[in-house]
Amino acid sequence: MIDLHCHSSASDGVLAPEAVMERAAGLGLAGIALTDHDTLGGLAQARARARQLGLRFLGGIELSTCWEGADHAAGDVHLLGYGVHENAGGALAAACRRLRRARAERARLMVRQLQAAGVGLVLEAVRAEAGAAAPGRPHVARALVAGGWASGVAEAFQRWLVPGAAGYVPLAKLETRAAVRLLRAAGAAPVLAHPGRLRLGESGVAALTTALAEEGLAGIEAHWGQHSPAEAALCLRLATRHRLLATGGSDFHGAGHAGLELGECAGGRALPLTLMDQLEHAAGARARAA
Ligand code: MN
Ligand code: MN
Ligand code: MN
Repeated sequence: MIDLHCHSSASDGVLAPEAVMERAAGLGLAGIALTDHDTLGGLAQARARARQLGLRFLGGIELSTCWEGADHAAGDVHLLGYGVHENAGGALAAACRRLRRARAERARLMVRQLQAAGVGLVLEAVRAEAGAAAPGRPHVARALVAGGWASGVAEAFQRWLVPGAAGYVPLAKLETRAAVRLLRAAGAAPVLAHPGRLRLGESGVAALTTALAEEGLAGIEAHWGQHSPAEAALCLRLATRHRLLATGGSDFHGAGHAGLELGECAGGRALPLTLMDQLEHAAGARARAA
C-alpha cells in the first residue's frame, strides 16, 4: 500500500513532515509522496526520515491553479507534481516564493475583512496556527475556532471563508496550462488532482483533461480518497483515452482534519508500489528528452 497525496505542517497539514512519515510507516505503508500546497519546504525532512524508516519516498507538490474561461468555483484546478526535488531551483522554486508572498498578503486581507465584519481576530493568531507554513484558509479557520467564532473548522469555512462570506479573499494562482509546463520544466510528472472535486461536470473534466494532456499531463488522480465510484470510473476512462497514469491518495491533512487516513484511497483500493516507478519514469522521461 502506498499514498501519493498528503500534507504536512509545511503547508496546511497538522503533523510535521517527519511525523507524517512515521505515521505512514506505523500504518504499514510501503511508499509515500508528500504533496504540500505550493511549497517544497517539507521535502528534505520527509525524505530523510523516510529513508531512516525504510519507506520509499517520492517528492511532490500540489499547485493551486486557475483554469481560464471557467467561473470561479470551477476554476480552482489543483495539480500534483511528482518527482520534484527540494533543491530544484529555477522557475518552480521562484513560483513557490511568489505564491507564498501572495498567501501572506491574502491572510492579511482576510483578517482585515473579518475585523470589518465584527470578528476580533488578529493576524498573529493566524500566523501562530500556520507556524512555518504560508498562511491559508485552514489556518484562519483554526484561529476562528480557537477564538470562539466558530464551533469547528467546517463551520468556520461555511460561515466566514467561502466565496460570498465576509472573510473570503480569492487567491492569486498560476494558470493551469502554464503550471503543467512549469512542472514539466522542473522535471516533475504533472497529475490532475481530484477531478471529482471540480464541479465541471463530465464534459468539463474531459475537456480540461484533453487540454492538459496536450501540455504534457502525465496522470489523473482517479483514486482520490473522496471520489465516488462514478467519479473514479470517469477518471479511469480519461486515463485510458489519453494514456495517463491513474494515481491516487488520501489527501491526509492530520487525523480529524480534511482528507482521510494515510493510505485510504477510493473504493478501499491499495495502490501498487510500481506506480511510484511509473511516476518517476514519467517525471524523468521529459527531462531526458529535453
Ligand atoms: Mn489542503
Ligand atoms: Mn487539492
Ligand atoms: Mn491536497
